[in-house]
Amino acid sequence: MDMENLIVKKNTKMLHASKNLSKFVLTAITALLILGLLTANAQKSDLKTIVIDPGHGGVDVGAGGKYTREAMLSLEISLKVRELLVKELPDVKILMTRDKDILPGNLSNKDAALKWRANFANENNADLFVSIHLNSSPANQRYEKRKVGTREETYYVKSGKGSKAKKIKKTRTVPVYERYRSPATVLGTQTYVLASDWYKGKVASAGRSSAIQDYVDADTATGELLQLDPVEARIKAQQYAKYFFQKSLTLATYVEEEFATIGRNSWGVWQRDWAGAQGIYVLSATQMPSILIETGFIDHPDEEEYLMSPEGQEEMARSIIRAIKRYRDVLQNPEKLVEQPTTGSETD
Ligand SMILES: [Zn+2]
Repeated sequence: MDMENLIVKKNTKMLHASKNLSKFVLTAITALLILGLLTANAQKSDLKTIVIDPGHGGVDVGAGGKYTREAMLSLEISLKVRELLVKELPDVKILMTRDKDILPGNLSNKDAALKWRANFANENNADLFVSIHLNSSPANQRYEKRKVGTREETYYVKSGKGSKAKKIKKTRTVPVYERYRSPATVLGTQTYVLASDWYKGKVASAGRSSAIQDYVDADTATGELLQLDPVEARIKAQQYAKYFFQKSLTLATYVEEEFATIGRNSWGVWQRDWAGAQGIYVLSATQMPSILIETGFIDHPDEEEYLMSPEGQEEMARSIIRAIKRYRDVLQNPEKLVEQPTTGSETD
């Protein structure tokens, strides 16, 4: 081997060494980048801040029961949820849109308060928004009358004509009715998510049947409230479909499963858009996965009694927390997110 060759060989070796080094550096950088991305992703999917939103409040009392109003019970259940969440998920920041009987932001206007709720969650970069409500139904508030007996009624007839006319007193038997509230028939829980295509204005219900279609709840915003710029609304809807729908649906599914487990009559997960009269504003205005839980029918005596009781409130709160924990776990395995509503069997 002559000198020239030796130098070439040495250089080649050095070249190899430097190639190997750069290969190593490249691999290391790639690995670090991937790790960084994974960490960022893990952090991104972490549940750091949850906003609990007790429906209504203050002047907006919500649906009415025999003894209570929706605003009061939604607050009591929400406070219980917070108390337990603070204990069971100590690393998660729990915020509430209200913790007393006022409209959030101490506002006096219900629609303004709805906007406040959504802004509050957005400004605090919440990872999850859970609104808690109670339902009511005209079917539970029907009155009927029934005959409870008879009574004697006095009446007069005229006899004769002109100045000679006389009033004659007579009596007759008439039935006596009583107005009574017919037994409440509608009860159970429902959890709402926005439909994945909520912007299209199509009401897609994944609910079990139409038997509770006539439920009423005053949570729905008026059309004017959502005068979103069409472009902005479309972008929001796309973002929602891409990032939030599956997560919202997953949590909603878990919530209803947990309710069913404790023996509640679960109506499953329902999807709503915002264009219809029943659009749920807070769900479309929050920029994070969000659900709205109807914890039961306040105008059904059994459910009102249950949701008024400390035991009932505790059971409901524990179910919601079990669902949130399952949701937090599944965030680490996004392939396990629920893709289709499984609790409902009917789409209309
Ligand atoms: Zn409500």
